[in-house]
Amino acid sequence: MSEFDLVIRNARCATAADTFCADIAIRDGRIVSLGEALGKGKEEIDAAGRWVLPGGIDGHCHLDQPTSDDSRMADDFVSGTRSAACGGTTTIIPFACQIKGQSLRAAVDDYHQRAGNKACIDYAFHLIVTDATEDVLKRELPELISEGYTSFKIYMTYDDLKLADREVIDVLAVARAHGAMVMVHAENADCIAWLTERLLANGHSGPKYHADAHPMLAEREATHRAIAYAELVDVPILIVHVSAREAVEQLRWAHSHGLRVYAETCPQYLFLTADDLAHEDEQEGAKCICSPPPRDKANQEVIWSGLENGVFQVFSSDHAPFKFAGPDGKFSAGEDASFDKIPNGIPGLETRLALLFSHGVETGRLSIEQFVALTATNVAKMYGLYPRKGSIAIGSDADLVIWDTGIQRKIRNAALHHEVDYTPYEGIPVNAWPAITLCRGQRVWQDGQYLGKEGMGEFLPCQLPTPARPKPRPEGGVSWIG
Ligand SMILES: [Zn+2]
Repeated sequence: MSEFDLVIRNARCATAADTFCADIAIRDGRIVSLGEALGKGKEEIDAAGRWVLPGGIDGHCHLDQPTSDDSRMADDFVSGTRSAACGGTTTIIPFACQIKGQSLRAAVDDYHQRAGNKACIDYAFHLIVTDATEDVLKRELPELISEGYTSFKIYMTYDDLKLADREVIDVLAVARAHGAMVMVHAENADCIAWLTERLLANGHSGPKYHADAHPMLAEREATHRAIAYAELVDVPILIVHVSAREAVEQLRWAHSHGLRVYAETCPQYLFLTADDLAHEDEQEGAKCICSPPPRDKANQEVIWSGLENGVFQVFSSDHAPFKFAGPDGKFSAGEDASFDKIPNGIPGLETRLALLFSHGVETGRLSIEQFVALTATNVAKMYGLYPRKGSIAIGSDADLVIWDTGIQRKIRNAALHHEVDYTPYEGIPVNAWPAITLCRGQRVWQDGQYLGKEGMGEFLPCQLPTPARPKPRPEGGVSWIG
């Protein structure tokens, strides 16, 4: 009788800390042994010295999220998790978004309805807090945190999502009191509104003007403000989707002052520029509309350096899937919709890992350990899923990816598994792609075949994040507030 369900032989493993060669033995969906010449499995895979890495964790993606206009997200939990699995991602954390006026509990219940029995990989939820009422702050958030919803995103821009500054401070105080993690979309709403009005008044309504309406300074100012509020309340925060130099300078400023400010960046800030919004065929530019917008080549370099030297802890897709064609996609407000009426967001769940592996690890910019940290381990720690997720360790879930490297391929939307009718990364070369993805020991992707099943994925309640609540700083902060 075989001791194990599955044994992966000759794996060249990497974690956020180490690389080593081992056999990996899996039983009941978990890693139960790492060693040399392990006993027989019911099934075996010979990794033949290929990299075997922890499955990717995408800590920022949007699936089947209600919108406030006629647009509709193209991916639900079926197609979104399928696409993720085919790109080597084994856990996702999308957002249960509170609609203003709605209770947070109702948003969470609705999102469970949308997710239930659909996902083929495991998932947790972040919350999006858009209406910081007294009931939300005093009762709902503490309750939901204790039930495993330990991170929430807040917006400083977008009319239907943004919090007033006082509400931002109130939400940060709740996070401090209960040890939760707040993710901040940092852009200055009034700067953007003022610029948008002026651009439109001057007849500048095409997609390319989206970049002009969202300048770096709007991101820099809001990033600084968010950092200042986190300092005031004395709580760690995470700035999401950082796009450019000026925001990075604010992060460095925070670090140099000993503040715990974490940061995320995304593929669009490494592989796209504002020129991608200024397409010859004007409408095509809408394919790359997201906020903050992609900047320029020099800023791509700044973001790469930030990944290399530790400004960023997590690398996420910010997958926000809207079709280019059709009545509910990028032009849901009409074929000649102005840039401010085009839904923000681009797809990227399936391409995130291969892009960073090919252009980061294979070029020598990032070590393999850094790659694992940015795409899996740190994400699991930041949002309370570690050590069940995010590493190759005895007792961890057998979420593993065996990589093919040294291949030559270009990203083609036709080969992807989402429901979006384009990828902004069309034609970009990659020389690595997952050969096999295992979710809790089950094959969900192998040799170009999707093998997952709807409902295989489980909901994961999150523990409190690993970056523990800091001790009050003697010289500042309002730590007496509790
Ligand atoms: Zn955002």
